[in-house]
Amino acid sequence: MNAIYFDHAATTPLDPSVFEKMRPYFCETFGNADSPHRFGRKAIAAVDIARDTVASLLGAEAGEIYFTSGGTESDNWGLIGLARAQKRLGKTRVLVSAIEHHAVLAAAEKLRAEGFTVEYLPVNEWGMVEPNALCAAMNEVTGVVCVMTANNETGVVQPIEALAKIARAGGSLFFTDAVQAAPYLPIDVKKLGVDALAFSAHKFYGPKGVGVLYVKKGVKIDSYLSGGEQERGLRGGTLNVPAIVGLAAAYEQAVKNAAENNAKIAALKDLFLQTLLSSTEGVTVNGGGETVPSILNLRLTGVDNATFLYDMDLKGVALAAGSACASASVKPSHVLTAMGLEETEAKECVRFSFGKDNTREEILLGAALAAETVKKLRKK
Ligand code: PLP
Repeated sequence: MNAIYFDHAATTPLDPSVFEKMRPYFCETFGNADSPHRFGRKAIAAVDIARDTVASLLGAEAGEIYFTSGGTESDNWGLIGLARAQKRLGKTRVLVSAIEHHAVLAAAEKLRAEGFTVEYLPVNEWGMVEPNALCAAMNEVTGVVCVMTANNETGVVQPIEALAKIARAGGSLFFTDAVQAAPYLPIDVKKLGVDALAFSAHKFYGPKGVGVLYVKKGVKIDSYLSGGEQERGLRGGTLNVPAIVGLAAAYEQAVKNAAENNAKIAALKDLFLQTLLSSTEGVTVNGGGETVPSILNLRLTGVDNATFLYDMDLKGVALAAGSACASASVKPSHVLTAMGLEETEAKECVRFSFGKDNTREEILLGAALAAETVKKLRKK
């Protein structure tokens, strides 16, 4: 058997049908979308269609959609751009959940260095930000509250509607990183009640290096990349037309096939867990409540996660300890320690993330190899 890929939360393969839609925009329709001639007009026409598609899928207007270079840029821009605009209204405090992706955490620390007050919202033992915790933390100088829609390590879905309502009632803006949620959950910006939302194409079988920042009409956001007048003067840089076309095509497919894919992936996740539990003791699930169907975070008691990942990779199974960006480090996960795990316990945890193209055979073999590896490492 070929290598087994259980790391879909890190990235997904590009869907070949999406690639076919992108293909003409590399060599034939190559114009700069800002050029005022026929080459440019063809390129901007494709971008306009992509923007309309994404907007209608999110329940937004085209003018509220900005294309970026991916989740990291959307997170940085969303948090920093909103916070700086809010500062002019005297709102100098930012509340960020303790379990955010590093793209948000690093942006928050940048704001602290600029003089903002930055505070972290706790999560409960299941990995959820409780609305009461936000109520207690709000004050009149809070300018931005940022809580991700679903966590990238545990898959735990956050109560965004309730949190956004509290933030906005308290006079703050609400920003959510929906990078891990967008492939699976229905995202309707009006229903969620958010002021800004970020996502990235490569998590739903689209191309890497392209993302979206939704900003609600009327909400002020400072520009982040200075340069040309692209994206209504707020995000300079020549538009990546093939990637934008690919993002819209991939998101359209993700939304259309969500029910079918979610059911399939959830069944695979359950099969993996039950198979592993039936053969192996000392396995516990991290996170609870609603989770995205793809992510399963397990504590393998007595097993060092770095060694486990290395051994599994040698056996042909690819997975991660947490977020891909941090996986080279041996630091315990900030998400798991925020949920109350000791650092030593967090170093026993691994993330399996399944995808629509995984097969039953891969699941059964992957679970058997995981059980064998746990047994071997516990003997050492
Ligand atoms: N936010 C979350 C929750 C993520 O999982 C990731 C990627 O893993 C990012 C942001 C960064 O997205 P990108 O890889 O597109 O920069």
